[in-house]
Amino acid sequence: MRTVEQQLDIVLTQVQQRPPITVALDDARGLFLASDARAMSSVPAFDNSAMDGFAVRWADVESASPEHPVTLRVVADIPAGSALDPAIGPGEAARIMTGSPTPSDVDAIVPFEDTAGGLDDSLVTAVVRRAPKAAGMHIRRTAADTAEGDIVLAAGAQLGPRQLSALASAGIAHVEVAPRPRVAIVSTGSELVPVGTALQRGQIPESNGILLAGLAADVGAEVVLRRVVDDEGDGPADAVAEARALGADVIVFSGGVSAGAYEVVKQSLGESMEFAKIAMQPGKPQGFGAAGGMLIFGLPGNPVSAAVSFEVFVRPALLRMQGAAGIHRPKRMLPAGTDWTTPPARRQYLPAVIDRTDPARPVVRPATAGGSGSHLSVGLGAAEAYAIVPAETERVSAGDLIEVMEL
Ligand code: AMP
Ligand code: MG
Repeated sequence: MRTVEQQLDIVLTQVQQRPPITVALDDARGLFLASDARAMSSVPAFDNSAMDGFAVRWADVESASPEHPVTLRVVADIPAGSALDPAIGPGEAARIMTGSPTPSDVDAIVPFEDTAGGLDDSLVTAVVRRAPKAAGMHIRRTAADTAEGDIVLAAGAQLGPRQLSALASAGIAHVEVAPRPRVAIVSTGSELVPVGTALQRGQIPESNGILLAGLAADVGAEVVLRRVVDDEGDGPADAVAEARALGADVIVFSGGVSAGAYEVVKQSLGESMEFAKIAMQPGKPQGFGAAGGMLIFGLPGNPVSAAVSFEVFVRPALLRMQGAAGIHRPKRMLPAGTDWTTPPARRQYLPAVIDRTDPARPVVRPATAGGSGSHLSVGLGAAEAYAIVPAETERVSAGDLIEVMEL
């Protein structure tokens, strides 16, 4: 049997990146930067006020106190968006709002709450009762966050809402990103019927299609084809031809790759794929091939096997294809909250929940009471992580430190 790492190496060797494309920010959510994004303007772009109050010369108000307030003459009003840079002489002030540009002549802001009158009378006089601690108080300086030309996000970063807003704030309207991988999802099995169909004996609702399509979309892929083929004939080869016509980069089959009598992916695509046994549970039988620029994955059909296989082999490939900075999910170590059994000589990926009853000491438990059966598809809905137990470990006891991949 191969290790997971050996099989993943075989997969990653075949991954090809497509040339980058340039898109507007609104079209970039979920995509990965293909080159460093550099600030088009500084953040902040100009010195501005951090408070609603008065823009002052610090020397004028340095001595202000409740007992000895300093009265300044207000000579200007600077609302947000104003382009004014009024001259402010000694003994003078401008009323200013948060985010408004500070006049060149001032070097501190006195918030309304540190004056006698506050907003009242604020266009006439400012009676300062408390001195700003130092020159520069409450002024947000140009480029304090990022200077024009600085890297805002490096190549490989995924663009979520926070990243997109950071780019927008630095004046970046377009970004160079990796194109979305085009993915075809094909379920195999003569027993599969569309969800909602009344089940005849022997039939089951098809559930891997929605699983694998969603997992692929979650890492930026565009699902260009979803199909179900039965266990007779050459459905998988037809699906490959259809996916190729749609320009798919990746086709993911589930089912039909193990050691039974009707393994349709094996029979139909035996020429273009290699079938191997991997030392993992679930997910032992894996098919993989690369033909004409398209990666072909043959995952086992049990829903938990398909989900785990996607995590371990397909997701890293889709991320590498997009030049992602990290292709693996973060992992951490947590104590087991209970005992459970593990398969001999295979690494276990167990759908798990993190029990946070004691927030200071979270523990990991199997997601289903039923244990680790790869057919326990409903347990997958409860899972928020996979507990990963090394092949050499024979059993897990409560309190053992377990590697946990959070989903
Ligand atoms: P296979 O890998 O084809 O031998 O399938 C293993 C098990 O997974 C069988 O019980 C199948 O009925 C089930 N299975 C295969 N494909 C799917 C699917 N798309 N949705 C739900 N269950 C499936
Ligand atoms: Mg099958």
